[in-house]
Amino acid sequence: MKRIQIGFDDTDSKDGMCTTYVGAVVVDRIIEMGAKIVDYPRLIRLNPNWILKTRGNCAIAIEVEAEDDLIDRIKKMVIRTVEELAELDHETTNPGVVFLEGENIPKELKLFSRKVIQDIVSIDEAEELAKKIGAEYHKFKIGRGIIGALAAIGERLEQDFTYELIAYRVPSNRGKERRIDRESVFKMDEMTYPNTFDNIDPSTGEIRITPHTPCPILYGIRAENPSIAKMAHKMVKALEPIERWIIYKTNQATDEHIIYAKISEVKPYRSFAIKGEVCEKPRIIAGGHVIFKIKDDSGVIDCAAYEPTRKFREIVKGLTIGDVVRVYGGVKPKPNLPLTVNLEKIEVVKLSQILKKLNPICPLCKRRMKSAGKEKGFICKNCKQKLPKESVIIEEAPRSIKLGIYEVPPRARRHLAKPLARLPPKTW
Ligand code: ATP
Repeated sequence: MKRIQIGFDDTDSKDGMCTTYVGAVVVDRIIEMGAKIVDYPRLIRLNPNWILKTRGNCAIAIEVEAEDDLIDRIKKMVIRTVEELAELDHETTNPGVVFLEGENIPKELKLFSRKVIQDIVSIDEAEELAKKIGAEYHKFKIGRGIIGALAAIGERLEQDFTYELIAYRVPSNRGKERRIDRESVFKMDEMTYPNTFDNIDPSTGEIRITPHTPCPILYGIRAENPSIAKMAHKMVKALEPIERWIIYKTNQATDEHIIYAKISEVKPYRSFAIKGEVCEKPRIIAGGHVIFKIKDDSGVIDCAAYEPTRKFREIVKGLTIGDVVRVYGGVKPKPNLPLTVNLEKIEVVKLSQILKKLNPICPLCKRRMKSAGKEKGFICKNCKQKLPKESVIIEEAPRSIKLGIYEVPPRARRHLAKPLARLPPKTW
């Protein structure tokens, strides 16, 4: 028996297909050939800020155990399947397939995966690494997909992970409106949340398990474990045939894309968690976006809660100068604008005091006194009692927000962002 790691990426275009579907077909074909899939196939999300991604920047890895003579046939089948299903006519579709024999994943490959998830790498870098670790790689066209293919093999999900059960549509239905019983999704959510998550967006009542793209996915259910995913899948009533379904083990909802950094270390096209003090009050700009600034001992940076984050903006609007926060989000450059953290989550670590001045209460008739004029203290309009200006009462104004962590709603959430429903409170 032999083990082989299979990775592939970059099979789809904006008009259709999905690398997860290619994965599902490959898995079914491997099983039909009589080989064994080790653990679950993996769906690995890569840097969400990467400009050349088609949609969710994902790649697939499958670990297979098979008789020696089957391995070669499996490799040929994988290449054939990618050729058959990838949208090769699209200029931006550049598949890559990688095979790595054995079960040991070299440390350099694990580090490479981390880099592809958090940072940016070149095709040359991927090719060099593949050669160094003895991986076999196949490039279709310019073969950019070998970056994701290698990264998926190297991400073994040794720390945090979740699962996603994906159900696919029959070819004749792809591109048409998805038919699924809404009520059954709400019921499923009620029965399985938070062991399944992001099924619906409570702020809009929107169903989140169905995508809005022409891809072959009917729905995807995100879950903490495979048995809950299967149970939830049984509860969802599809009103159209399901061609096949698969469960992937994934780094979705784990925050693996986040780099903990100081402001001076922030670079575009990466995602960061930065602790800082609010140094400019939130302001609302055209389009309903809310912008504010934070500072740390290394610099100042803009943070934004964009319009689609809806109610989340109310939390952000409640911030004031001096509040200490930890912001989480991706940074993409925009022409003529400073680097801005596009908020995914915010932790309010410390609230500053807002003090307000109040006129004193009249010691005789207990009514609120009035100002007697600039620098002249206070006077009671009722009994004419006077008090000096030092009698002013200084009170702490109530804050509209509380300490804690807040997140954008599911409709605005990135695949990799860890929902609060998954956060064990003691670690935060
Ligand atoms: P889908 O999610 O449906 O598979 P996608 O959004 O994953 O689509 P791809 O079509 O796979 O997008 O295109 C992304 C391409 O960019 C792939 O070739 C991948 O190898 C490459 N890539 C991904 N992340 C990085 C990165 N951090 N640095 C450099 N290249 C990357």
